[in-house]
Amino acid sequence: MEVFYAPPARRPQLDYSRFVLISRGMESVSIHRPKWLPKGQLAALREAQREAAREWMDRVAVHKQARDTRAKWPTRDTLQKFTKGRYKLHSQTIQMIVQQFLANVEATTERRRNDPASRQWLRYPHREKTFFPLYWPAQAVSYDRCASHLILPMGRGRKSLVFRVALDFEPGAVKLVWKDGYELHIVRGDVVQAEASPGEHRACVDLGEIHQAAVATDTGAALVICGRGMRSHKRLLSKQLGALARKRARCKRGSRRWKKLQRARRKRSLLARRRIRDLRHKGTRKVIDFCVQQKVGTLFIGDPRGVRTLKAGRHHNQRISRWEVGQDMDYLRHKAERASIACSIGNERRTSSRCPQCGHRHRPKGRDWQCKACGFVGHRDVVGAANMHQNAFGVRVTFPARVTYRRAGPMRAARGLNSPAPSLPARRSSPDTGLREGVAPPSPQLLGTSPPQGRASDPRRDAGLPVRRQTLPSAA
Ligand SMILES: [Zn+2]
Repeated sequence: MEVFYAPPARRPQLDYSRFVLISRGMESVSIHRPKWLPKGQLAALREAQREAAREWMDRVAVHKQARDTRAKWPTRDTLQKFTKGRYKLHSQTIQMIVQQFLANVEATTERRRNDPASRQWLRYPHREKTFFPLYWPAQAVSYDRCASHLILPMGRGRKSLVFRVALDFEPGAVKLVWKDGYELHIVRGDVVQAEASPGEHRACVDLGEIHQAAVATDTGAALVICGRGMRSHKRLLSKQLGALARKRARCKRGSRRWKKLQRARRKRSLLARRRIRDLRHKGTRKVIDFCVQQKVGTLFIGDPRGVRTLKAGRHHNQRISRWEVGQDMDYLRHKAERASIACSIGNERRTSSRCPQCGHRHRPKGRDWQCKACGFVGHRDVVGAANMHQNAFGVRVTFPARVTYRRAGPMRAARGLNSPAPSLPARRSSPDTGLREGVAPPSPQLLGTSPPQGRASDPRRDAGLPVRRQTLPSAA
């Protein structure tokens, strides 16, 4: 669960100076949201998070003092020495916070060393925190399978936190975070890794905003995952949050209506976040499945984050700022590792502006790449992915002859998702009369002489009067 600086597994001949990836290790995490927590427990959780923040701020202060006085930076042992018995938390939780702090410091140092420009703005942990997530390593966590109770200790003499969650796996480390409501991030150790690499082929991925990913292999195949679903969820969310913000601007801060709007805002953004995360996982899963099917053993992911800093007008800036490309790279790396595909990330500069046939350069317009020199036409993102082979592996591949298009996933849940789909009746050659087999359809009859069965009593019929179906007296 710890955040650390992850250097690429293999370094191709590329400029890596701009490369930094902070990620949650290579663990599969299962996210649980307790639907309802009693007031007392909520208060306990808040207090524990405050306590964790106090510890964090103390570590920040110690480290800052060392930096300011140019003294030797504190090591893990010195940092941990000051924590004993000072916080109302489990000893392992306290240690995890120290670990997290050191990991952040290390990542910052690494980034500042590799990328001198980042020294202008990248600072060591300094921000004032009121709340901090709580961590428990695997050995501190216990799970009562009979009662479905996840037990998280809070230290000797204090009540443990107990959550009711049904798990079908043995829980590993647990992180308790607030994301518009409490969430339990539980590491699962039951995810198996493929033993052998799928094959010897190579593939490159071009990540994008309109198309989540475009993959080109050296087997002459290509896959494009459409990202428009995620895009539209995000646009809708932006609009709805805007509308809520306008309403909120007219309320008094802290009033009942203000709180009500805050709840609405939280609910709305949670829903969108879950939907987008789902689509993102489904899209990257399709990329890896495609690679396995094409027997790809080495995958190169182009890092497009250079384009994020460009200013492109307020509409495009909103789209780009909501584009979570770091997540895509993380998910791809994670899923590739599970499939035993060697994965590396590197610069993708100038790959999408070059013609894969004649090398002519120009900035593409629209979704198709049309070469002005040789007349080549191909999918813009596939062009980027195919050209990347030259950068990453030093080999030119032929432009894929066929491109498979896929959506990341369905935009809307099917109706009755949780119930099995109704089985369709077997096809029959006879017309479907809606009657059981062997029952002849009724012969046509004159309306009025024999009204349909099961009707509620009709005063006109009871009186023996002809019933006119079209103009039934409504107020007879
Ligand atoms: Zn050309």
